[in-house]
Amino acid sequence: MAVVGVLALQGSYNEHMAALRRIGVRGVEVRKPEQLLGVDSLIIPGGESTTMAKLANYHNLIASPDGDHYMFPEFPALREFVSGGKPVWGTCAGLIFLANKAIGQKTGGQELVGGLDCTVHRNFFGSQLQSFETELSVPKLAEKEGGNDTCRGVFIRAPAILEVGSDVEILADCPIPADGPKVIISSGEDAEEQVYSKDRVIVAVRQGNILATAFHPELTSDSRWHRFFLDMDKESPAKAFSALSLSSSS
Ligand code: GLN
Repeated sequence: MAVVGVLALQGSYNEHMAALRRIGVRGVEVRKPEQLLGVDSLIIPGGESTTMAKLANYHNLIASPDGDHYMFPEFPALREFVSGGKPVWGTCAGLIFLANKAIGQKTGGQELVGGLDCTVHRNFFGSQLQSFETELSVPKLAEKEGGNDTCRGVFIRAPAILEVGSDVEILADCPIPADGPKVIISSGEDAEEQVYSKDRVIVAVRQGNILATAFHPELTSDSRWHRFFLDMDKESPAKAFSALSLSSSS
């Protein structure tokens, strides 16, 4: 049976573990690089992405570009896990973590795992007070399971995806709430503000082995997103490769 790792540094990892239990799947909390070796896929939960990045660095889960913070080079850390082709799902802060580019803070920023070809805007919808729930239309969920294509989107200080590369499939977008964002800001000391003029924004995408949602399916009783993610394991190139080498060696 597939073992799903849940990055358990901070945020809603308990809720993902419970969601996996509900569908009879074994979830394992991951805090150390070597634990990534024992899992078939990985969920990076929501929470607070800057804090999660700091904790991930502390636990040597993120390699700095020069490798300085990477004390266990023989173990695949998060970046290697993502590029290795096993399924990875980022929810909310997890989506930010997986994006190649994150904007929306006036200074600083944080280290990202990257891999997902998109620009994400942190706290796009505003502060905690602008957190909201809405119905989303996700045709892919109905395509897989039949039935209704709507799902409940729980957005908590949520990011949104402003731009995607050509390999990224858009699974859901969302209308901007009436009290929603009027501006987007770039990042860094000289951050600029720009008027956000569209009336919808992207909130769920897939690029190969990476699934990302700006909202929190683990906070609802709807298990379709977790099942969707588990199905990605069956299709993953890493699996296909090991199946191939097994059959050619037998
Ligand atoms: N706003 C948070 C961040 O920037 C993400 C919020 C969440 O994961 N619910 O990390």
